[in-house]
Amino acid sequence: MKVLEADFLTSATEKSAGAGWPVEGAPEVAFAGRSNVGKSTLLQALMQRRGLVRISSTPGRTRLINFFRVVVAPDGGRSPQDRRELMFVDLPGYGYAKVSKEEREKWLPFVDQYLSERASLKILVLLVDPRRDMGLDETEIAKYVMARGVLVIAVMTKADKLKKHERKPALQKLERALGLKVLAVSATDGDGVDELWRRIAAAIG
Ligand code: GDP
Repeated sequence: MKVLEADFLTSATEKSAGAGWPVEGAPEVAFAGRSNVGKSTLLQALMQRRGLVRISSTPGRTRLINFFRVVVAPDGGRSPQDRRELMFVDLPGYGYAKVSKEEREKWLPFVDQYLSERASLKILVLLVDPRRDMGLDETEIAKYVMARGVLVIAVMTKADKLKKHERKPALQKLERALGLKVLAVSATDGDGVDELWRRIAAAIG
């Protein structure tokens, strides 16, 4: 995918707190996963901009929803009409140490509001780490958003950390737990990143 532009727009909590969420327009692709799953690294790889995501990883912003405006050329930019604008939405990482109740209560209200109310939300990229057991959160979130017509793309991150023969069983285990196809991605060596872009582009048309 050719990324023409990628900019950090704003950080927010609730829809109308502070500056609130950006005006709806471009289709939104939200990214969710537990802390340390590799979300920032993958966002960086998808947006092809080093340093851009660092803004949203600075202390204070990791507990916020971070919005990025992304302009891509699905056909490689051969014609000026070949421009598609999207919003990438970096949801706060959840589930430090066994998902304490307190953590859920902090995370849930505004993320919940975003996932349940935002009309522009078209795709949720749900990131899971193969070396960690999947919690209830992932399956709950997937079911929840699918029920309102949002496409869920499940992604197994850090695939490079598994040996070749370990990948398939790890994927199958995640697929059984989620009831969804799972795409293996390594943001550090780039495996699966183009395929993830293809699926995003196909879904937003
Ligand atoms: P976040 O908390 O979900 O945003 O996670 P980060 O993107 O900050 O990554 C957490 C850690 O995992 C960092 O040390 C990254 O370098 C590492 N990491 C992220 N993606 C990959 C990957 O694809 N492969 C490997 N081997 N390490 C990764």
